[in-house]
Amino acid sequence: MTLSTPEIKPYIPIPDEIKVPLDQMDQVIETFPDKYAVVWIAGKFYQSTDPETRTEPVKRKRITLHSWYKTYFCHRAGEKEITGPRKMITSKKRPRQKASKKIGCPAGMRITCYKKDPDNVVFTFKNQHNHAVGTKEDFCLLPVSKATKEFIRQKLREGHDCKEVQRQLNSYVRNNITAENSDDNRQQEVIHRDQIVDPNVVYNQYKKMKETTL
Ligand SMILES: [Zn+2]
Repeated sequence: MTLSTPEIKPYIPIPDEIKVPLDQMDQVIETFPDKYAVVWIAGKFYQSTDPETRTEPVKRKRITLHSWYKTYFCHRAGEKEITGPRKMITSKKRPRQKASKKIGCPAGMRITCYKKDPDNVVFTFKNQHNHAVGTKEDFCLLPVSKATKEFIRQKLREGHDCKEVQRQLNSYVRNNITAENSDDNRQQEVIHRDQIVDPNVVYNQYKKMKETTL
């Protein structure tokens, strides 16, 4: 089996528009955290209503160009989460470390499928994020990438303990930053979420694996 290799690439800015085949839509949504340091939460789905099926008379001639669109909002949208002792009483879960994740970010994404082009979808974006996307303070709130989680699981399966897996992961990400102009200074800089994996991430993967093998 080949080793899952985490990719530590610098984040890139989100383009104004992304057009992809319809069947690649979900894959593209999944690339956002790793590529652009943004997580989108699915919102509503809107289907264009066919004028022929309307019972009431159409007052104004309105032509819809889309057959459907779907809205998404930033994972930092919404009210601040209530944390502290009050929440701990009602919840068995450990208090969340990501307490300040929700900061009412107004940024949104829309995926549109046009009538004239039913095999493709277009990603468009509205409003700026109210947080510095791609900075360490911001990307530490992103999930650890699938590739890195798989790397951790493979190392655990090989029989290494959590501490050793953490050491190997740290060493791997340190030596595998694929920055375009990677000089020595650049390599020291934290540019990607997976460079700052908390020991809890390794431990959680260990726990999950133990649960499934019991
Ligand atoms: Zn945002």
